[in-house]
Amino acid sequence: MIQFLDLKQINEPHQYALQKAIERVLSSGWYILGREVEAFELQFATYCQTRHCIGVASGLDALALVLKAWNFPANSEVIVASNAYIASVLSITHAGLVPVFVEPDPRTYLLDPTRIQAAITSRTAAILPVHLYGRCCDMDSINTLAQRYGLKVLEDAAQAHGAVYVGSDTDKAQQQAGNLGDAAGWSFYPSKNLGALGDAGAITTNDDALADTLRALRNYGSTQKYINDYVGYNSRLDELQAAILSVKLPLLNKAIARRRVLAERYLRGIKNSAVTLPPADQIEQDAWHLFVVQHPQRDIFRARLREQGIATDIHYPIPPHHQRAYASFAHLSLPIAEQLHQDVVSLPLNPALTDEEVAYIIESINSL
Ligand SMILES: *Cc1c(COP(=O)(O)O)cnc(C)c1O
Repeated sequence: MIQFLDLKQINEPHQYALQKAIERVLSSGWYILGREVEAFELQFATYCQTRHCIGVASGLDALALVLKAWNFPANSEVIVASNAYIASVLSITHAGLVPVFVEPDPRTYLLDPTRIQAAITSRTAAILPVHLYGRCCDMDSINTLAQRYGLKVLEDAAQAHGAVYVGSDTDKAQQQAGNLGDAAGWSFYPSKNLGALGDAGAITTNDDALADTLRALRNYGSTQKYINDYVGYNSRLDELQAAILSVKLPLLNKAIARRRVLAERYLRGIKNSAVTLPPADQIEQDAWHLFVVQHPQRDIFRARLREQGIATDIHYPIPPHHQRAYASFAHLSLPIAEQLHQDVVSLPLNPALTDEEVAYIIESINSL
């Protein structure tokens, strides 16, 4: 059976370096907010080309803490794609704000900038573009609108480690995801492109004041030990996960390069007219966290592949507004998201996948 993702396989090649890192933390006697977190924050800020990185406990916390730090009036609105991952929406409601769902472009799966303007009201405070599946949103259009209406932009980069963006300004070099708005939330959940061995997250930003607030908010609102300026939280990246991430970050670009090779094979090789492929115009910019196709009879397609020994997954089966947790949004009609949630299916794509396995998956899909 070709697994969808085997995390043991992903981490095994780095076992020795990971064990060394774990031992280093163990013998240091210092486990929360120390040298390991500082070192990783510096490395990751450099990777993202941002002034600051603040390590936190998870991707959800990263997003929610930024929204809390901005201190918008209660019930301010945040624009988010209607097919976003549930955590993106949770971050908005946890911060006491209201998600306003805007439909995605069904071709790219990303927030459709042409639909944003109609969703802006006097209560809109921010736009939360999710770089879903590893492809950057159209940030030039989003930032232009944000500037025009005085809105903050919070990237959800939880699936976009290693993604780059090439804007319409051709003089500008390509920019890293995480450096494309006012702040970005990252997750290092084990299955992400850069994954820890447990929960972990971070925020990147170029805003000095925001970075200071976030460093306090993640640590009980404290700026100095036992001096509390904010009603804060406990949401710290721990030393152990930071040490593990410092081992894995230098390997990220190579892993992304492999993802791009595999994505290109799928894009060139799959020739089954029932399968809608993702766009092939950004193979070298996309971080290919997931390779998501559409099929009008998804369940049959998945069952046939399973018979051939190929596991697939669905990201995601239910749109946020149809989740029981968000029954208050159940009345909304969001046909593009609803259609996507019925048709999307993710093929295996990760650095552990072999050439032979990809060739077999392509052949199997083409023979259906
Ligand atoms: C994983 C993920 C999150 C949440 O990250 P956690 O670390 O699991 O809290 C948020 N947004 C997106 C798009 C994600 O994929």
